[in-house]
Amino acid sequence: MSVPDTDKLFRQRQAHSPPRGSRHTPFGARSARGRRRRPRALSPHSGYHHQMEFAEFAAHAADIEAEPADLEVVALVTDLFADAGDDLSIVARFVQGRVFPAYSERKLDVGPSLCHEAIARAAGPNVDGDDVEARLAEAGDIGRVAESYDFGGQRGLGAFTSGGGRDSLTVREVFDELSELAAAEGAGSQDEKVATLFGLFSRCEADAEARYLARLVLSEMRIGVGEGTVRDAIAEAFDVPVEAVARALQVSNDYGLVAETARDDDEDGLAAIHLEVGRPVQAMLAQAGSVADALEAWETAAVETKFDGARVQLHHDPDGETSLYSRNMEDVTGALPEVVEFAEAHLDVPTILDGEVVAVDDDGSPLPFQEVLRRFRRKHDVERMREEVTVEFRAFDCLHAAGEDLLDAPLVERHDALADLLGGTGAVSDLLRSDDTANIEAFEADALEAGHEGVMLKDPESAYTPGKRGKQWLKRKPDVETLDLVVTGAEWGEGRRASLLGTFLLSARTEAGYETIGKVATGITDEQLAELTDLIEPHVVSEDGQTLDVEPAVVFEVGYEEIQRSPTYSSGYALRFPRFLAVRDDKEPESADSLERITRLADRQ
Ligand code: AMP
Repeated sequence: MSVPDTDKLFRQRQAHSPPRGSRHTPFGARSARGRRRRPRALSPHSGYHHQMEFAEFAAHAADIEAEPADLEVVALVTDLFADAGDDLSIVARFVQGRVFPAYSERKLDVGPSLCHEAIARAAGPNVDGDDVEARLAEAGDIGRVAESYDFGGQRGLGAFTSGGGRDSLTVREVFDELSELAAAEGAGSQDEKVATLFGLFSRCEADAEARYLARLVLSEMRIGVGEGTVRDAIAEAFDVPVEAVARALQVSNDYGLVAETARDDDEDGLAAIHLEVGRPVQAMLAQAGSVADALEAWETAAVETKFDGARVQLHHDPDGETSLYSRNMEDVTGALPEVVEFAEAHLDVPTILDGEVVAVDDDGSPLPFQEVLRRFRRKHDVERMREEVTVEFRAFDCLHAAGEDLLDAPLVERHDALADLLGGTGAVSDLLRSDDTANIEAFEADALEAGHEGVMLKDPESAYTPGKRGKQWLKRKPDVETLDLVVTGAEWGEGRRASLLGTFLLSARTEAGYETIGKVATGITDEQLAELTDLIEPHVVSEDGQTLDVEPAVVFEVGYEEIQRSPTYSSGYALRFPRFLAVRDDKEPESADSLERITRLADRQ
């Protein structure tokens, strides 16, 4: 690894440094509050008024990549941040292989072949994209491929700025050039992108510069620095509690903003970072869980309809815009004009809501998820598709209302806030609080009846935790269900078991009688078989070879993995992996499970 000559870097930095007070910050409004700068022991070339050379960043990255121990990695990222000076916010993203904040609409949109072409061009006339690809196939890492070329030969073409002199690349220049690249659109934009990247690669002097530039451009930094590392390093570098950093990151998704604030405004500054209407946060996610799981964990569960649509976070500013974001914080506003119209018609305070966009028929009943997909993310023909598929917003959470962040408020309070905002519009999810399984199942049956996907079970006291897939939200999966089925037939066993019944035909109850659904032969010991034979023999009505007809009298409890549609049995269903669990001698055949319940269970799968 080549370590940059720090004396040289220092001299260059002095030359680049803007005058005091003119520090560029992308967060101008915030910096206007007046920062309290803290004296800290930094290396002599560190300071707030220098621009980091890209070579210096690359040297740090190489050190980090070479370090296997997680704790040491945090320490190295901490050093990087302490050295980043004016470019801290950029560096906090670059080190994760990101050019723009996660929520940002800006994307590089540079595919491998475009990047390969730029590298080839910078490497000289004897190199083409195929050569880059051949090397990539061998090295498996675009960074190593990029550094394997000598870009020096092309410097005359791309390396001199208008100022005339040789100018090494700074972190900010890389950022600015890539920002311009991201803005390129339309015809000719591909060529423009290749030209920009060619210019950047041509100016890479140290091997490491080319390596990390290539990886950055393709968003594959691969130096083992994830979000948690950056969080810990911000806390360590600027001596602020890691929880304060984590919270600020949760509400902003902006590592640059959080790093700068931690450095310049301490813990208080971090605490003052709030949700902002128009800046999406990560969606809270759910795990699978049963009603039993929910009631065991919380005693009372909040039960909501699970809408079968696409997740949307709605941001409404009554004096500004309404914007809609997908689960990945992608801006989908343009695709869903009627949701924007809905917000504008019904909301009159700054609001951030979480919900689902569903496709509905003329009566407002939900249509399958596939219909929503015809509208979601659509960029063209939005108005035409609007005629074909109607979408509506269903809100189930409120993160911000009228200047108040509600992330830490209990779910039920957030839901109340939601009802205050949108009650009466039909857009708010019904919420049942119950500790009773039967009640919850009835609510679920209603939801299914109305055409929804099922129910969500939520901890009524839980906070909204962006990006977390915790146990506070459970998408209901059936409890380990068993079926109580009626024995309507049997078969004699074979060999050693020839004198015992070995297989039992099972049926579900219908209005008219019984319909077969499967056979059970597993899960039964020899001893049990003897007992079952004694139990069933008195009810045999006819015998045909091995096979017996049995009148409905005995009820088995059976387990299974899945209910499948099948022509094999008269019910139209079959059980996958049925197994005998017990004789339900407390149950008459008339109270065995109905085919209707089986249909419902099958649909829910
Ligand atoms: P799944 O996509 O199966 O992981 O289920 C979780 C998803 O269900 C969420 O990301 C939401 O998009 C969606 N969903 C539908 N209704 C609700 C609701 N009432 N509460 C939370 N999420 C819901």
